[in-house]
Amino acid sequence: MEQKGKIGVTTENIFPIIKKFLYSDHEIFLRELVSNAVDATQKLKTYASLGEFKGELGHLSVSVKVDKENGTLTISDRGIGMTSEEIDKYINQIAFSSANEFLDKYKNDANSIIGHFGLGFYSSFMVSKKVEIVTKSFKEGAEAVKWSCDGSPEYTIEPAEKEDRGTDIILYIDDENKNFLEKGEIDRLLKKYCRFLSVPVVFGKKTDWKDGKSVETDEDNVINDTNPLWTRKPAELKEEDYKKFYQELYPFSDEPMFWIHLNVDYPFKLTGILYFPQVKSNVDMNRNKIQLYSNQVFVTDSVEGIVPEFLTLMHGVLDSPDIPLNVSRSYLQSDQNVKKISNHITKKVADRLEEIFKNERTQFEDKWDSLKLFVEYGMLTDDKFYERAQKFCLLKNTDGKMFTFDEYKTLISSDQTDKDGNLVYLYANNKDEQYSYIGTAKDKGYDVLLFDGQLDVHMASFLEQKLEKSRFVRVDSDTVENLIQKEDAKETTLTDKQKEELSEAFTSQLPKIDKTEFTVDYKALDAKAQPIQITQNEFMRRMKEMSAMQTGMGFYGEMPNSYNLVLNVEHPFIKKVMADVDGKEKEAVDVYAGENKEIRQLIDLALLANGMLKGEALNNFVKRNMENI
Ligand code: ADP
Repeated sequence: MEQKGKIGVTTENIFPIIKKFLYSDHEIFLRELVSNAVDATQKLKTYASLGEFKGELGHLSVSVKVDKENGTLTISDRGIGMTSEEIDKYINQIAFSSANEFLDKYKNDANSIIGHFGLGFYSSFMVSKKVEIVTKSFKEGAEAVKWSCDGSPEYTIEPAEKEDRGTDIILYIDDENKNFLEKGEIDRLLKKYCRFLSVPVVFGKKTDWKDGKSVETDEDNVINDTNPLWTRKPAELKEEDYKKFYQELYPFSDEPMFWIHLNVDYPFKLTGILYFPQVKSNVDMNRNKIQLYSNQVFVTDSVEGIVPEFLTLMHGVLDSPDIPLNVSRSYLQSDQNVKKISNHITKKVADRLEEIFKNERTQFEDKWDSLKLFVEYGMLTDDKFYERAQKFCLLKNTDGKMFTFDEYKTLISSDQTDKDGNLVYLYANNKDEQYSYIGTAKDKGYDVLLFDGQLDVHMASFLEQKLEKSRFVRVDSDTVENLIQKEDAKETTLTDKQKEELSEAFTSQLPKIDKTEFTVDYKALDAKAQPIQITQNEFMRRMKEMSAMQTGMGFYGEMPNSYNLVLNVEHPFIKKVMADVDGKEKEAVDVYAGENKEIRQLIDLALLANGMLKGEALNNFVKRNMENI
């Protein structure tokens, strides 16, 4: 007997809404239907194991078939099936309230809507003009039934012919969604969403090459791996298995450095494998590689909000039915379970790094260049991680030696403590450009760190706050005498007039350099120290560098590069110039300086040491020196 009825939704008609709002994520209908089929199969297995189902399980698989001629896509399983009462209960009565309000809020997020209402099955209407369910329950004596609905709130339900238990969901694909009748498209979607489902999913037959043609074989084409690596026991797995799985996930990638197999049962369920990839350069490039699953069903590959930001640099899979998938990102961040999971992952990552550091320090150091970005990013953004990582975060000096924070402190504390008791960490960003400064500092017995990573400028400021009484100073930010002030600087005794004359003599000979400003600084250094040096103020330079990396600090980014032209007023040459220009007017000083080849030469040498002598100025310098040979 045929029965007609109205689907129990409180909103007049759910289908136009589904179609209208869920356009962007149409494809997830397939994930929903195949995972329903898998669930129905798993349930039957459970009933069988509990003795509630005594029949023959037989070969359990889910199949997906495309019939282009008839315009249908069919998903079949041999699971528990449904009686007509169950169809009524689970399919017809979609009870939900305040649908409009909710739809409005999440209109662009199909995942949320579908999950929120348990509309998994109804997502099929996003792509179909008609949907049929032909199903037969596993229960003894159950009759097969066919449910049919054309996208209006009216459905029909009638007796059907079906030999085997289980369910066929038949979609009559609508005109706008014909692409879902293409084998290639379905194959792509199955591989994306169903690749690791726990029941074999069959899509057609395997093909073989014969006489230069691809022909179908008798063998089922199973698209999934029902027993993916993360669901297996770590003790059974070898290094090779992890590497192979990584290649499966990211074909043609460099080998991962390390991995962590997560396996938690309580107080939340979480499994997964996280890999530390070899980091090349760009922070962004490597993101969105972690795939999130819920009971082996692919959900998303954007895990922001679920794992701490720095961990999005890792690769691999996370699987947790305890992550609420059907809510907005902002809600996710405040969810207690998500917080716990996120903390757990951070802790495991820190554990693993510490373990490698302790047990295999050489290996850890070898990989430090790849690990560094990741560890620093974590320390900068996650306090808990900082607490752990300060034990294994390494500082590398310009000779390539590596130290922990504690080791380094011990190394430099005797020579690099200033008069106020601050420990001064000297660093260079570029070994070549700051070559002469590094050399001078080392000659003085100082150690110089190499801070050439993307986050090192941030790290310098950050560590100044974290490490007590410490300063980070780039080797070229002051004269070597003043980098680490051991005693109060000797005062200069120049009058304003003398300063003005000296300044004019030197600045008049400086070549024009784009976006660059010089301020003259007078220092009473040792008579044997260099007469002229160019330094760059640590604070200003750091601000500029940081603003280049982040928005919202545009002010500093716009500023010209400002350098100090440091004149050593105790040096005999500077003293001589001072005497020569004494009492002269500006023009006269300019003429004098223009004719004084030594001034020019010393300025050029100072610029050269800073890598700032370029173009015409460099050319002139070379010519002038050739003439002197
Ligand atoms: P959800 O899966 O989130 O509960 P769905 O709308 O996808 O929501 O499905 C509603 C219900 O319909 C399921 O809980 C299940 O009881 C039943 N169902 C759907 N598909 C099948 C199937 N292939 N076999 C048996 N029961 C099914």
